[in-house]
Amino acid sequence: MREALKEAQKAFDLGEVPVGAILVVQNKIISRSHNAVEMLQDATAHAEMRCLQDAAEITGNWRLLGATFYCTLEPCAMCAGAMLLSRIDTLVWGAPDLRHGADGSLYSLLNGQHPIHNISVRRGVLAEECAQLMKDFFIARRASGKII
Ligand SMILES: [Zn+2]
Repeated sequence: MREALKEAQKAFDLGEVPVGAILVVQNKIISRSHNAVEMLQDATAHAEMRCLQDAAEITGNWRLLGATFYCTLEPCAMCAGAMLLSRIDTLVWGAPDLRHGADGSLYSLLNGQHPIHNISVRRGVLAEECAQLMKDFFIARRASGKII
């Protein structure tokens, strides 16, 4: 999660909502990414989506079996769906997302009811640090008059 936080900090420094993701297989980091919605002007360019896409490209396999995915924020519905489709093994996320979270905050897509694949989830890892980065970002954005 510390590595995912480094990615989130990169997003912060670029003026992006600070979310980071790291995908690990057999204790090796396969891919790492941060949110790039503003840079790419793409609403789907979440850290998690980019990290899953990179991992599939690097491994040559969209099935990310055995993967542990570290994300600084509770995934949205799009990203949670992509995680199920990618068949990752384990998700570890940091701060809850009350507005978009799809693992209990708004929706519950990872509650073990999927008929084909289920993901083990660890919630709230380094939650305060992950949340603080988000708070700092939005405070700075509001102070600068930029509204998200
Ligand atoms: Zn997302």
